[in-house]
Amino acid sequence: MRNFETLFAILNTEAEKADNYLEGLLATLDEWLDGERDIHVDGLPKEEMRKAIQIAILKGMRKSTQPNHQMTPDTFGFLLSFFVEQAFEDKLAKKETLKVTDLAVGTGNLLYTLMNAMDGKIEATGVEVDELLIQLAAATANVLEQPVELHHQDALTDLLIDPADAIVCDLPYGYYPNEEVALDYELCAPEGMSFAHHLFIEQSVNYVKDGGYLFFLIPATLFESEQAPQLHKYLKKHVWIQSVIQLPENLFTARAHEKSILVLQKKSAELRAPKEVLLAKVPNMQNKEALAMFFEKVRIWKENK
Ligand code: SAM
Repeated sequence: MRNFETLFAILNTEAEKADNYLEGLLATLDEWLDGERDIHVDGLPKEEMRKAIQIAILKGMRKSTQPNHQMTPDTFGFLLSFFVEQAFEDKLAKKETLKVTDLAVGTGNLLYTLMNAMDGKIEATGVEVDELLIQLAAATANVLEQPVELHHQDALTDLLIDPADAIVCDLPYGYYPNEEVALDYELCAPEGMSFAHHLFIEQSVNYVKDGGYLFFLIPATLFESEQAPQLHKYLKKHVWIQSVIQLPENLFTARAHEKSILVLQKKSAELRAPKEVLLAKVPNMQNKEALAMFFEKVRIWKENK
């Protein structure tokens, strides 16, 4: 098998036979992994396998209308990989393995884009509340042979996981329904319901090592809500803001859906804050020259920070 199209065609044919496409896809992946179905992918790179599964999952998500069935596009994963590699350059040079956690792992596409880009350098943990998505994430990890420990639960309740070197997360956006759990958070709203995206930031800080990094895909309007002052106060107390990177508008269908990358570092007594926060905008990604200049700008900032 040479490319993802062939694998996608096989997965798609099988998934189409089921009443529910995503469940059919999951069954096909599980049968393949259990050796009950012969799918020969000899020589197919992991990225081609990830793409085939990603396209099948996207197709299945379009057929169902579950609001939480959202997958992080790989463009975001590629950009995030660059920032992760920059932040951990020294550790990676010493061939140390990074422990990375995603508290809203979904289908795993964001995490596996990162893991494939840094193949062999990451051991990961993922948490996800949706049963079907986490099953798809588990099957995909097995197909890709990526080392991931997955937990099926509400990520905002207590977690039995070790602190990570890095957190990556495409933050779930909106109100968090469990007001009792929200009470345990500094970022619990003083009145009414709390923002899930705020609580996810706080929980991520809880489960990263001192000096560890957090890479979030955030709504571009994160700092514009009425609860933003509370978020600012929390961030000032616990983390150093490293970078706020605006993503190109042409990647989004509407202003309301625009996202940015927020990079934080958990405070540590042995480290110091960056001299300045990197505020930058990713250029149109078709423009290779502008993109190369953007990456260079980030490298220069890193050398001087
Ligand atoms: N990065 C993921 C991917 O590539 O598939 C997509 C993440 S999606 C934007 C947010 C995810 O958060 C959804 O899969 C949703 O089910 C999950 N989620 C929402 N609230 C959660 C909670 N309290 N605990 C765990 N997962 C949650």
